[in-house]
Parts: sequence; C-alpha cells; structure tokens
Amino acid sequence: MRLTQEHDELRRLSKKFVEKEINPYVDEWEKEGIFPAHELFKKMGNLGLLGITKPEEFGGMDLDYSYNIVFAEEMGAIHCGALPMAIGVQTDMATPALAKFGSDELRRNFLAPAIAGDMVAAIAVSEPGAGSDVANIKTSARKDGDDYVINGTKMWITNATQADFLCLLANISDDSKHHNKSLIVVPTNTPGISFSERLDKLGMRSSDTAQIFLDDVRVPQSHCIGEEGSGFKMQMIQFQEERLFAAAMAIKGLENCINETINYTRERKAFNKPVLDNQVVHFRLAELQTEVECLRALTYDAVEGYINGEDVSLKASMAKLKSGRISREVTDACLQYWGGMGFMWDNLVSRYYRDTRLGSIGGGTDEMMLGIICKLMGTLPTRKND
Ligand SMILES: Cc1cc2nc3c(=O)[nH]c(=O)nc-3n(C[C@H](O)[C@H](O)[C@H](O)COP(=O)(O)OP(=O)(O)OC[C@H]3O[C@@H](n4cnc5c(N)ncnc54)[C@H](O)[C@@H]3O)c2cc1C
Repeated sequence: MRLTQEHDELRRLSKKFVEKEINPYVDEWEKEGIFPAHELFKKMGNLGLLGITKPEEFGGMDLDYSYNIVFAEEMGAIHCGALPMAIGVQTDMATPALAKFGSDELRRNFLAPAIAGDMVAAIAVSEPGAGSDVANIKTSARKDGDDYVINGTKMWITNATQADFLCLLANISDDSKHHNKSLIVVPTNTPGISFSERLDKLGMRSSDTAQIFLDDVRVPQSHCIGEEGSGFKMQMIQFQEERLFAAAMAIKGLENCINETINYTRERKAFNKPVLDNQVVHFRLAELQTEVECLRALTYDAVEGYINGEDVSLKASMAKLKSGRISREVTDACLQYWGGMGFMWDNLVSRYYRDTRLGSIGGGTDEMMLGIICKLMGTLPTRKND
C-alpha cells in the first residue's frame, strides 16, 4: 500500500480531530456510559470524515479503501475502544452495503445524511439466539401490500439508543437460509420499535449498546437494500470492510499501550533501577512492537488486494484474527508491567485491556475467522449436507 501526500493530509486531519474533539472528553463519556453521537458525527461529517470511500454523489470523497485505513488507524489513537468502534459502525459496518447496492432513493434519504453526520446508523444482525451463526437469525420481514412487517429481536447493537436508522438483516421467505435474507433500512422512529436499557459491559463503556425489539414494524419494501434474498451475501461482503477496519483500528491503540508502558516503566524504580531496564521487560516490549508491525503489514497487504479488486476474504480474516489475538497479548503484558497501577480502573492500559477484549468476539469471533481461514486452506472437514 503506497501512502501518498494525500494520505498524509487525511492522517493529519484525522489526528488533529481526535486530539482536539475526542480525547479531551473520553474520560467524561466513559463515566457517563455514552457519548454525544449526533454532535460528534456532525463535526466529523463537516470535515468529510464519515464518507471517505463513499460516492461523491451522496457527499462522500470517493477515495479508495487505503484512505479509510489511514483514517481507521488514527481513530485507533482515541483513548478508548468505544469511540473508534461507534465511528466504525457508522462508516464501515452499517453503510457499505447501502452505498454499494442501495437504490438512489435510499442512498439520498439515509446514506447522504449518514455521511453528513445528520443521521446515526447501526448495524442490526446479531440476535439473542444467533451471533456467530448469522444464517440462523429468526427476525422476519413478512410482505403485506407494499410493505414489510418486521418482527424479532436484535441483540448487542452498537449505537442503538442514538441511531436514526438500522441496517437490519431479516428473513423474507422460506427459501434456504443463505437465500432467504434481505438487508433492510429501518428508521428507528417507526412505530413498534423499542429498546432495552443500555447494556452494562465489561469495556467499551462509552458506546451505547442495547437490545432492539421489533413488534409489527412496518417499512416500505423499497427499503430493501439491493436484490431481495441476497442479504446474507451482502452482509458477508460488508463484513470484509468491517474486518479490515477492525484490524487497522487496533494498531495505534496497541502502540499507545506499549509507549505508555515504556514511559511508566522508565520512571518507575524497583531494586534501585527503572523497571524498564530489566531485560525481560524491554525485550518483551520489543517483541510486542514487532507483533504490531506484523499486524500493520498484513492489514496493508489485505487492503492492497482489496483496492485491486481481489477477493481478500483470507487475508482480511487473518488480519481480524491477528488483531484480536495480539490485542489480548499486548494489553495483558503491558498491564502486568504497571503492577498495581495497572489494576486501577482509570488507567489507560487497563481501559485498553478491557476494551480490546471485544476484538476476539465482535464482528466474527476468532473461531469464526479460523473457520474461514481453514475453509480457504482446504482443511475444514466437510459435512454430509454441505
Ligand atoms: C459490545 C458489543 C457490541 C456489538 N455490536 C454489534 C452490532 O453493532 N451489531 C451486531 O449485529 N452485533 C453486535 N455484536 C454482537 C457480536 O457480533 C456477537 O457477539 C459475535 O458475533 C458472537 O456471537 P455470540 O455472542 O452469539 O456468540 P456465539 O455464537 O454464541 O458463540 C459463543 C462462542 O462459541 C464459539 N463457537 C460458536 N460456534 C463455533 C464453532 N462452530 N466452532 C468453534 N467455536 C464456535 C464462538 O466462537 C464463541 O467463542 C456486539 C457484541 C458486543 C459484545
């Protein structure tokens, strides 16, 4: 991936935004358990940051995905995991399918305001009974006249309580489970939608996560994104960008964690010398930094293939897997070198330790990534009815 002066400019803009408009407020938002999504997204929309790869016609910059990766890396420098995740939902999880396959009317009414920061988006796929097993979701969208009538429950939905619309996966027919689904745009002010209290989480405290109940929710069939019945396929395509974004987003946070640990252990003395001067400590930190560089190289490599139009399912899954794995390794090792200070709630490293634990779970667990990698390596045993 060749980084140009334009990439550098976007990096500077994103970095400045994080330093000025986000990091000073993160502690407050983490305590409140929510951040002001409309206010923040509007500021980002004004700078064009919510539509980097999206069509110009709808307010985007129409740049290739390498620019989004630079943006994702800089969002990773936010002093928590919740904000980068919420921003990623808006730009790379809830809107890619809408941008690629949505009708012009849908894109005018929902994509353009999401890019401008006037609407907050959420992606509603997971359910109480189906997370990894996406094909087995139970939410249904029954046709009635020109409408869909949607019933079901969605679980763990990021941005839920502040969202203006959902990109929702539902079953629309009795066809086979890979061909009976559609992605449907559902405005959250539609009668029949209700939300649980915000869910109390181990980490990602400032992100609002909730359960969503849909009880005879009526939306026009024109709200279906792309071809009816191709929702599963589109969601799998959409996951590709989500996984690249997740991998890139992890990089700077991990580097922050390592750098903060270097600074602390350089100052902290035990047995008359800085903790950092123990070879076990500086060697380990060097090893972790090397792991982070490997993640960056793998992510850039996957993105290069992606912008060249290749199917990067293998490398995107590997990058997502690697980011989850090393996030756990880096944050755990760094926390250890802070001793008791590492166990304090407000410590940045302990926040990263809690927040990045989601990396191996959300947007496809490590085991799901391993399954995809094995399938593409030809080592996954086939089942009789496959
Ligand atoms: C904070 C947070 C935010 C989230 N945001 C969103 C969101 O915005 N939108 C959304 O749709 N979802 C969201 N999710 C849901 C998330 O994507 C799911 O939790 C995730 O996909 C895992 O699904 P599950 O929790 O149902 O786990 P399960 O599918 O029940 O799996 C449990 C465990 O079993 C393992 N497992 C399952 N099957 C196999 C197998 N065949 N082989 C080996 N191991 C297996 C899994 O890997 C996992 O470790 C969010 C979750 C959290 C916690």
